[in-house]
Amino acid sequence: VIASAATRAGFDALWAELSPVGRDPRTGGYRRFAWTRADAELREWFVATATVRGMQVEVDRNGNQWAWWGTPGPGAVVTGSHLDSVPGGGAFDGPLGIVTAFLAVDHLRASGVVPARPLAIVNFIEEEGGRYGIACLGSRLMVGAVDPATALALRDDNGDTLGDTIGVDPRGLGPDPEALARIGAYVELHIEQGRALDREGAGIGVASAIWPHGRWHFCFGGEGNHAGTTRLEDRRDPMLPFAEVVTHVRALAERYGILTTVGRVRVDPNGTNAIPAQVDAWLDARGAEAALVEEAVRELTSHAHAAGSGRGVRIDVQRESWTPAVDFDATLRSRLLLALDAAGTSAPVLPTGAGHDAGILASVVPTSMLFVRNPTGVSHSPEEYADDSDCLAGADALATVLEDLLLRAEAPA
Ligand SMILES: [Zn+2]
Repeated sequence: VIASAATRAGFDALWAELSPVGRDPRTGGYRRFAWTRADAELREWFVATATVRGMQVEVDRNGNQWAWWGTPGPGAVVTGSHLDSVPGGGAFDGPLGIVTAFLAVDHLRASGVVPARPLAIVNFIEEEGGRYGIACLGSRLMVGAVDPATALALRDDNGDTLGDTIGVDPRGLGPDPEALARIGAYVELHIEQGRALDREGAGIGVASAIWPHGRWHFCFGGEGNHAGTTRLEDRRDPMLPFAEVVTHVRALAERYGILTTVGRVRVDPNGTNAIPAQVDAWLDARGAEAALVEEAVRELTSHAHAAGSGRGVRIDVQRESWTPAVDFDATLRSRLLLALDAAGTSAPVLPTGAGHDAGILASVVPTSMLFVRNPTGVSHSPEEYADDSDCLAGADALATVLEDLLLRAEAPA
C-alpha cells in the first residue's frame, strides 16, 4: 500500500510542527520532560491538532490528554503514545504514535468511514520517567499501579516534587476506573527500539510480548586505603570482584540468551590514588523467559560471593524491581494481523525488551502494538531514525487496524 498524497503532506506538516520543540540545536537531541515548558508546548500542539479536526479534548485526573472522535464513552477504540522524551532523546520515540494516530483519523474520515464506536487518541504523561524516575507514570497511576502519595512526593533533579509541578489538581491523582472503563481496545504504534524488523526486511511489525525485566543492586564492600603504600597482598579492593561480575554477567547473558547491562556504578571515594572502600553497581537484566533471567542472576550472585570472599570483600545483592512478562492480547493481535493481511501488509510478530504504556494497560484492557522499522536500532538517542516511507506505512497500517476495530458492532476483542 502506498500512502496517499494527503497522508504524506499531513505527516510532513505535523512532523515539522513538532521538530523544534525541546530540541537542543547543538546535539539535535530532545529534552521533553513532563510538566516543563517543552511539555506545555507539546500539550498545546496536541490540543490544537485535535481541535482543528473537531475532536473534543479532555485531560484525565492524572494529566493524560485524550482527543475524541465521536462521543466519549464505553467500547472506545483508543490509540496514541507519549510526547515526552528521555534526556537527549530522539524525535520518534513517542511522537510517531501520536502523529500517525492523527493521520489515521484523517485518512478514515476522508475515506468516509462512519465509526460504530468512539475513537480516542491519548497522550500519556511522563512515559519515559525522564523527570521523576518512574516510567509510564501516567498509565501506572491510571490503573492504580503507583500510589498517588508516592508519586506526588517524587523529586526531579532540581528537588521539585511532582506535587509542586503537576499541571492538574494533585488531589485527583490516582486510579481512574471511569477512564479505563471506556477503553474497548488500545493499539499503540511505536518506533522499534531494536533491529528485528530491519533484519527481517519488514517495515511494520506486531508486538507479541514485552520481556520480563528487573534491576539488581550489587554492593561490594572493601577497605579504602592508599594507592601507593598498601601492598597488593594487603588490599581488600572491591573494584576487582566488581570487574569480574561485569565480565561474567556478559558471559552468562550469552549462555542464557538474555540481555544484561551494568550501566550505573558508584565508586566510593572515587579517587585516582585511593583503593575504593565500596563499589555499588546496578544490573539490568531482561529476557524472553523469566526463569532464565532469574537463573542467570542467581548464578551471578554466587559468582560475586566467590569473587569477593577470595579478596576479603563483602558482597550484598538486592533485587530492586521486577516486572513480569506482558503478553499482549492474542485475540486482538489475530484481528490486527488479519486486517493487515487483507490490506496486503505482511507484519512479523515480535517481542520487545522495552517497556511501554501499552504494557501497563495490557493488565486491564485488550492491548496491542504496531512497530515501525528502525534501520539502525538506535533509540533514546538523537540518532534514532525511521524512514519517511516506513512512517507513512505505519500510518496506513494503523488506519487499517483502527478501521477494522471501529466498524465492528461487537466489542473489539
Ligand atoms: Zn516510547
